[in-house]
Amino acid sequence: MSTVLVQGKEIYGKLKREIAENVLSQSLMLLSHSSENNYRRLGATFGRIAKTEHQKMIAAWIDNWLAEGNPGGPFLTRILKGLNPKVRKNYLANMIVSLFFRDQQIYDRIRKQYGFNPPSVMLVSPTMRCNYKCSGCYAANYTRDDDLPPEVFDRVITEGEQIGIKFMPILGGGALRLQTLARYIQETPQGLLPALH
Ligand code: SF4
Repeated sequence: MSTVLVQGKEIYGKLKREIAENVLSQSLMLLSHSSENNYRRLGATFGRIAKTEHQKMIAAWIDNWLAEGNPGGPFLTRILKGLNPKVRKNYLANMIVSLFFRDQQIYDRIRKQYGFNPPSVMLVSPTMRCNYKCSGCYAANYTRDDDLPPEVFDRVITEGEQIGIKFMPILGGGALRLQTLARYIQETPQGLLPALH
């Protein structure tokens, strides 16, 4: 396939995701002031537009999560009220859209090459320097000596992008100390938006 065609497909994919993120973010803002039934209507929309096996699986998960009696509706109602619009778009909408609109070419290539589906999300803990001590968290069990070397962090993020992962929450605390991460936030080529924790 020619380079121009590949680039064209990548730009189209990026544009599609950007539009979907904006639409979803606006929808979530409007829905935060309406009833839980409307969340379920939004969930049903994913089912209607799902084409691939992966999209159908995500749509079924969303549908079940938002079903009456399940935690999705109350969870969204609680967190969307007062959520900063940038967090709503860059974290919540980005996460859902990234899960739903995978790059099908990358997805097919990895499945053919390795025999399994590439992951949708990659959690990375480049440091464990968090100054909180949340119950059940592993961060406090590590020291600064356990920091990921910058070149390893760089490789992990790059390889994650290469297998089509668009959503990479950064966990463990203190990550903004890493210059590599600051550079990724500024230069990210595909809308990679780390969610800091
Ligand atoms: S990394 Fe997150 S979960 Fe763990 S202690 Fe820090 S804030 Fe709590």
